[in-house]
Amino acid sequence: MSNDDTRKEIKVLIAGAGIAGLSTAIALGRLATDTPGLHFDVQLYDKATELREIGASIALSPNGLRTLERLGVDDALADDVSYRGPAALPMIYHHWKTNEVVSADRFVDVPDRKHQTARFHRGHLHSTLLGHVPRETIHLRKAVESVVVRDDDAANGVGGGGGGGGGTVTLLFQDGTSATGDVLIGADGLRSKVRRTFVPGHTLHHTGRTWIRSTFDASLIRDIPNLPADSAHWWGPRYTFFASRLGRNMYTTVGNYDPEDLPGRRGHGEFRWDQEGDVNFFRDLYADWNPVVKALADATPHVRMYPNLAGEPLESWVFEKRVTLVGDAAHTHGGAHAAGGSLALDDAWALYLSLKHVLSSSTIDDDDDDESDKTFGSEEFERAFTLYENTRRPHTTRLVESVLATKAAAVVPSTDEELREKMNNRPNMTWLTEHDVEATFAKVLENEMGNNVVEDDDARQVERESVIFDIREATTIMGIPGSESVLDTTTESAVMVK
Ligand SMILES: Cc1cc2nc3c(=O)[nH]c(=O)nc-3n(C[C@H](O)[C@H](O)[C@H](O)COP(=O)(O)OP(=O)(O)OC[C@H]3O[C@@H](n4cnc5c(N)ncnc54)[C@H](O)[C@@H]3O)c2cc1C
Repeated sequence: MSNDDTRKEIKVLIAGAGIAGLSTAIALGRLATDTPGLHFDVQLYDKATELREIGASIALSPNGLRTLERLGVDDALADDVSYRGPAALPMIYHHWKTNEVVSADRFVDVPDRKHQTARFHRGHLHSTLLGHVPRETIHLRKAVESVVVRDDDAANGVGGGGGGGGGTVTLLFQDGTSATGDVLIGADGLRSKVRRTFVPGHTLHHTGRTWIRSTFDASLIRDIPNLPADSAHWWGPRYTFFASRLGRNMYTTVGNYDPEDLPGRRGHGEFRWDQEGDVNFFRDLYADWNPVVKALADATPHVRMYPNLAGEPLESWVFEKRVTLVGDAAHTHGGAHAAGGSLALDDAWALYLSLKHVLSSSTIDDDDDDESDKTFGSEEFERAFTLYENTRRPHTTRLVESVLATKAAAVVPSTDEELREKMNNRPNMTWLTEHDVEATFAKVLENEMGNNVVEDDDARQVERESVIFDIREATTIMGIPGSESVLDTTTESAVMVK
C-alpha cells in the first residue's frame, strides 16, 4: 500500500456556520485531539456577510445542554448567558384570558440545574460557540449552490485533503469559486442546498403557523404588574403567546398566527424569513388577552416574522459515501417544540462518536510499509456516517412525523373545558427533551456488532413516570394562585416555539 504523509490529513468541509455547523466543527476539533496521528482540516463556508444570529430567542433543553458540556462549551452553561426560572420547571402553561396556571411540564431526570432548560438570545449562544472555532476556518459570503462528488478514479489530480482514499467532494459557490475536501457535512439549514443536490424532490410546506418574535432589553417590561418570573406559555383561542427572560438582561416575546385565519387583515400573506413585521399587528392579535399578555405585547418595541416550514423525513442521510447532513438540513421539523438547537448539538455529538469509533478501528497508513495498516477512505466515512444516521435519523424522524401529523389532525376546542383538557393532555415530550444520544449510539453500535439489543429508547423514556402535572401540583410548587375565572375559548396547535 503506497501512501504519503498527506493521507493522514482529512479535509472536512462544513456548509453553514449556524448552531449545527459550529457545533460540528467543535466536535471535529475534539476528534483531532482524541486521535493522535490524524489531522483534521475543518473549513466552514457560510453565505452570511457577517457572523451574527437573528434577533430571536432560543431554548435549549437538557439533552442539548448536556451535549454543550460534552463539547467543552461550558461557558454557554453559565448563568449570565441564559435564563433558568426560579420554579425549575421546563415550561408553565397559562390560560390566555385568566392568566391562571393550568399546567406545567417538569423534568424527569435532570438533577443538575445547569442542565435544566435554558433560554438564550440566539446571538449570545452563537457567539459562545464561535469562541470555540478558529476564526480563520470560517469563510463568509460563500453561498453554496451545489455539490459535486468524484469517485476515486475520476478524482485523480483533483486534490482534496488527501485522506479520502482518492475521492473528493467539491462545494460550488454562487460567486463561481469552489472548495474541495474529503468529506462534506451539510449544515446549511432548513433550505439546505446540500440536501437539494442529493434529494432534489424534497419540498417544504408552510405548517399553518407564522411566528412573530422579538428580543429586547428587559428594562422595558420591568414595571408590568404580576409578570411571572418564570418563562410562560399562554394558550388561547387560536394562538399562543410566549414570554421569557433571556440571559444578559434581555427579554423575548413570541406570538403566532395562521395567515389563513386572517384574510384581508394586516399580516396576511407570506413573509420572508426574518423580515421586519408590524408591531401594531402583533399588539392587535393579543388586544383582548389578559392584562399581563396585553402589557407584554404593548411593551414589545419591534417584531420580526418567521413563517414556519416543515418537510417530510429523509430516507437517507448518507450520500455518495462522503456527504452527510446535520441540524435543520437533515431534519426539517421547522421550529417545532423548540427542539432544533438541541437536536443540532446532539447531531454533532453523534457524528463525533461515530467517527471516533470508526477511526479507532481504522489506523492510518503511516508509510512504514506495514501491510497491517489500513487507510481511512470512503468506505470508512460511509461506515461512520451510517452509524451516525442510525443514531439520529429514527429519533428525528419521529419528531418530523409528529409535527406533520399534528398539523393534519389539528382540532380546535370549542369550549373552555376542551381547551383546558387539551392543555392538560398535551403530548409528553420528554423523549425529545431528555433524550440520551450517547445511550442511543451505544445501542446502535451493539446492534451493528450483531447483538440486537437496540430497544426503542424513545418509547422507554415515554413510559417513564408522566412529566405532566396539573394545576394543583403546579400551584403547590410555584406558589402561583389559579384564577377562578373561566371563559369560553378555543385553542389549537401543540407545536410550539419558545
Ligand atoms: C421560528 C423558529 C424558532 C425556533 N426556536 C427554537 C428554540 O427556541 N429552540 C431550539 O432549540 N430551536 C429553535 N428553532 C430551531 C433552531 O433554530 C434550529 O433548528 C437550529 O438553529 C439548527 O440550526 P442549523 O445550524 O441547522 O440551521 P440554521 O440556524 O438555519 O443555520 C444554517 C446556517 O447555514 C447558512 N446557510 C444557509 N444556506 C446556505 C448556503 N446556501 N450556503 C452557505 N451557507 C448557508 C446560514 O447562513 C446559517 O448560518 C427555531 C426555529 C424556528 C424556525
